[in-house]
Amino acid sequence: MNDLEIQAAFLQQLPEDRRQIECAWNALRASTDWNETERMAMIQVTHRLAGVALTVGYSRMGNAARQVENYLKQSADPDRSACEKLVADLFVEVEAQAHDGSSAYEQPAAQSLKNIPSLQDARSTSVVYLADDDRVLVEILASQLRHFGYAIRAFTRLDDLRAALRREIPTAILMDITFPEGEMAGIEAIGDLQMEYHNQLPVFFLSARDDVSTRLHAIRIGGKHYFVKPVDIGDLVDALDKVIVAVEPEQFRVLIIDDSEIQAKVNATHLKRAGILARITTNPLEALRILEEFLPDLLLLDLYMPECTGLELAQVIRQIKAFVSLPIVYLSAETDREKQLIAVGLGGDDFLTKPIKPDHLISAVTSRIGRYRQLRALMLCDSLTGLYNHTSIRERLGQELTRAIREHRPLAMAMIDLDHFKQVNDTYGHATGDRVLKALTHILTRRLRHSDVIGRYGGEEFVIVLPNTTEEAAYQVVDELRKAFSLVRHSSEGKEFNVTFSCGVAVFPRQQTAAALSEAADRALYVAKRQGRNQVVVAE
Ligand code: GH3
Ligand code: MG
Ligand code: MG
Repeated sequence: MNDLEIQAAFLQQLPEDRRQIECAWNALRASTDWNETERMAMIQVTHRLAGVALTVGYSRMGNAARQVENYLKQSADPDRSACEKLVADLFVEVEAQAHDGSSAYEQPAAQSLKNIPSLQDARSTSVVYLADDDRVLVEILASQLRHFGYAIRAFTRLDDLRAALRREIPTAILMDITFPEGEMAGIEAIGDLQMEYHNQLPVFFLSARDDVSTRLHAIRIGGKHYFVKPVDIGDLVDALDKVIVAVEPEQFRVLIIDDSEIQAKVNATHLKRAGILARITTNPLEALRILEEFLPDLLLLDLYMPECTGLELAQVIRQIKAFVSLPIVYLSAETDREKQLIAVGLGGDDFLTKPIKPDHLISAVTSRIGRYRQLRALMLCDSLTGLYNHTSIRERLGQELTRAIREHRPLAMAMIDLDHFKQVNDTYGHATGDRVLKALTHILTRRLRHSDVIGRYGGEEFVIVLPNTTEEAAYQVVDELRKAFSLVRHSSEGKEFNVTFSCGVAVFPRQQTAAALSEAADRALYVAKRQGRNQVVVAE
């Protein structure tokens, strides 16, 4: 469906949504003490409408629905007349669209960036189940998570959880392990449910137990995470966010070097079938150039080639800093175990014997790449945001610039610095400051192209490298990011606030070296700050 079709579908559904909200509202009003069931029902229908309306671009209606939802969720003892007022506001917005959808439609701003829901919207539209027999703990945890904006449904009985699953599969299940039914009843229940739901349930265990055998048990039935109580709420929120905004992982990349083109192609075909991006070359002397350009996650290397042996090539590659940890797997007909061991000693990681079964090849390659990516993430990435750290973003800038020069393409670099960030920390505390940094990271990673490189340069400074991007395009992209970020409402202990950033942009070929680009971007950033902040300035 395109955008217009989605809107049309939404408007068509709207009268039914309105009817459901009316019913739920009437039932709630009729109940004597605003009973929990009626209240939940009203929360659910307004929650659903808010999510859809905001996604489709009817932000006034979406926000009105969200207000009702949040009001009912947050106040333990809701003031009826305040709530009446919010619901009346909501109906005004719904009426406006239900009668004349087309004319009142608010055109979303033209997007040159990917249009994504904010982290807050993603949280509030993803349902999370929480099951724990400890009623007090459930209430504390649920209210903490709601504070972060998640839609939590809490259960203290396994039967209630089972029943709820039949109605809706949540984005995540937070699961205690010990229940009145038994010490391991939580794990056992999930085990049965996983069978019923084809292992599709995203489960996080929260338990006071910290022994290996319980942890093993949890992993075997598909537990994604295991948190030991008392649970660190920050860690839990991070893990939940990863699930709700799951970015498609980048394809695995393998470079195959083999003097036999047929051999290379056969292996490439096997890998491609498993969804791996494979490049081949028959010339080992070309290897370095291709490595730098293709940046593979693994090198599959033939042992005997005419120009140089695989052993020699592996040693050359290992002398280059960027490739010190790149997995190298030899592929050869050599069956002499001793020779294989020598090969592994000389810079290789593993030895596969030709002919190799496709399944074996794929599993050898994917398991190595998985571990390599984890390690590399630890080495290259900043621990708070997961973006490239200072050293690696500088390296990546150098690589991208080299490529831009070779391919005669433009390249832009943007340096971002949050405005008055010290005040944010001073007013709301460092932890809230950290959350603001993560919110910016979310916008950058989700809205920029895959080919754009993002790094955290220092405390509250970020760098973006935009390959193949002109001055005008870079300005536009970054300025949209600036606007989007400035609209994000951050909250801390009930107080809400916005944060802005300033940005300096520099471009190749106007600047010819990486150092010149950084300096020019830095100078432009300084100008942006001096001119009043919350703006993007392009370097002269
Ligand atoms: P300006 O608009 O001029 O950039 O003002 P500013 O307050 O942002 O600039 P300044 O460089 O004076 O302060 C930067 C602050 O960023 C200081 C420090 O408290 C904060 N900061 C740096 N790294 C982190 C971090 O990792 N987490 C948090 N929460 N704050 C950080
Ligand atoms: Mg700053
Ligand atoms: Mg600064």
